[in-house]
Amino acid sequence: LKSEQKNFVRQWFRKFRKVDEHPHIASEEIHAFATLLKAPPQAIAGYIRDRVLIAREEPTSETPLSPTSPRPTGGIDAQRTSSEYNLRAANTHLEPDTLDLVEKYVVGSQRRRTQGDGRRSVNEGHFKCTFGCGYRTRRTFDWRRHEETHEPQELWLCHLCRQQHDNGNPFLVNRKDKFLKHARDSHKDFDEEAVLDMSRVNFRSNFDPICPICGEFSNTWDDRCKHITTHYEDEEFQAKQR
Ligand SMILES: [Zn+2]
Ligand SMILES: [Zn+2]
Ligand SMILES: [Zn+2]
Repeated sequence: LKSEQKNFVRQWFRKFRKVDEHPHIASEEIHAFATLLKAPPQAIAGYIRDRVLIAREEPTSETPLSPTSPRPTGGIDAQRTSSEYNLRAANTHLEPDTLDLVEKYVVGSQRRRTQGDGRRSVNEGHFKCTFGCGYRTRRTFDWRRHEETHEPQELWLCHLCRQQHDNGNPFLVNRKDKFLKHARDSHKDFDEEAVLDMSRVNFRSNFDPICPICGEFSNTWDDRCKHITTHYEDEEFQAKQR
């Protein structure tokens, strides 16, 4: 399906169907979409099953639409929802002391969501924090980076700092640019990219796969961010038309 066709289907679900309505969709509805959108009914049924309804259901339940069709693929991430995630259980492959540091860092990041961002002199734009802290920006890049302050996706724990002082507070951060700055400032004798590589934590992160705006399901954090960005870009575009 083309993105305009997908948007139409999603909008219809958002505006004309209640969340608690029974989760299966009648074949009349599929055929109505197919006629209106000039698209094959199978493509519409598949899209609704894998991307729209899955966001509204318990991830384990089968959709009555087509029980024989495969679940969407994408590895562990595809099945995961935010509520099921447990940081310790997802990261048992890490060394115990690394896991302690990571847990402390990520829990600390999530607490930040309750704090406002009133310090910033400019807090405007269509890109809004989805964690409810009130942050806004005009730039996609800044928005995504902000989202990752609440839900870290990649982590670097400085390997060199750890060797120098075992029990200290080794440098741990979720931003590559900040890590590279640390490497330049604190470990001048080393190549910063090499320090980055040796410090990368093989962290299995969490994310809520369900779009807070339209309920669409995303398989990865990257897809989620790209998807939410399209809503904000639409808003921005519509605001400019006025
Ligand atoms: Zn925020
Ligand atoms: Zn260091
Ligand atoms: Zn959405």
